[in-house]
Amino acid sequence: MTAARTKTRRTRPEQGTNLGAPSFPRSRRGKVGIPQTLAFFCLLLLFPAPGCAQHFNGAKAYDYARQFVAIGPRWVGSPGHAKAEQFLRDRFQHDALEDDAFQANTPIGPVLLHNFIVRFPGKKNGVIVLGTHYETNYPLRNINFVGANDGASTTGLLLAIADDLRARTARGKVLDGYSVWLVFFDGEEAFQSWSASDSTYGSRHLAAKWGRDSTLGKIKAFILADMIGDKDLDVQRETRSTGWLVDLVRQAAKKFGYEHYFFQHDEPVDDDHLPFVQRGIPSIDIIDLDYGPDNSYHHTAQDTLDKISAKSLTIDGDVFLETIRLIDLRSAVP
Ligand code: ZN
Repeated sequence: MTAARTKTRRTRPEQGTNLGAPSFPRSRRGKVGIPQTLAFFCLLLLFPAPGCAQHFNGAKAYDYARQFVAIGPRWVGSPGHAKAEQFLRDRFQHDALEDDAFQANTPIGPVLLHNFIVRFPGKKNGVIVLGTHYETNYPLRNINFVGANDGASTTGLLLAIADDLRARTARGKVLDGYSVWLVFFDGEEAFQSWSASDSTYGSRHLAAKWGRDSTLGKIKAFILADMIGDKDLDVQRETRSTGWLVDLVRQAAKKFGYEHYFFQHDEPVDDDHLPFVQRGIPSIDIIDLDYGPDNSYHHTAQDTLDKISAKSLTIDGDVFLETIRLIDLRSAVP
């Protein structure tokens, strides 16, 4: 997403205190309650203890993000973009990976883009789709913009989620609930300046394609991750997202004592979920658009690895996997 998006930028005075490494849970969120304290204690443990839920491996997600950032800038047409594509192909070389290549007409002319889709089968008839974008912003190609949070963190998150799903579908097993598909979108960013026609190329292409071949009818939920590696995690309630999915994500966060990280304010954000929203697919954008003091890390050379954390990715992974579980349960009672 981009600063040029149609949204109301809010000024958050407390964000000026965000330069140091945040504690967990962060004090700026007010009094630390017992569930948060317990969640923190549980995260410190190497082994599960009574009363502690097992946690997602955010450290692994962070390490994937670190490797992805090490590739360098990944703007469309750059050597880094080709390396990023190859990185994803390598990670999924033993999975059912689809390379969804297509030509997009952009302000810089026609370009070849690649979405990547990996599928993990489930017992139930239907699909939950998790998405992220992986490329970096083309207009920032001359400032060494590596998008640690914007593109890499959520790529790392989905790669670590893939490891979890792969383990659960090893040796011919299938997931207990719906199939889960992971989509790594290309061309989310504008080539010139954000508009309906100059943005979200990968998601617009895939939603249209899945509309033509009737795949959309199988999709029970679309969950988009964007910019949620931020150490200072603060996920807004994106206002075009589907109400029942927002409720399930809130419920999932509550299970781990994470509710203060989610939905403390509302904001519309144009992002890769909209082509699915527009086609009636239940969709949610899980996004933290407040990135650094006065948003100074967003779309700047400041978007570097030190601004994201394994802790935030643990929170994200816990909530994503629990949300999938809740969607599977929800369907048990039609
Ligand atoms: Zn961006």
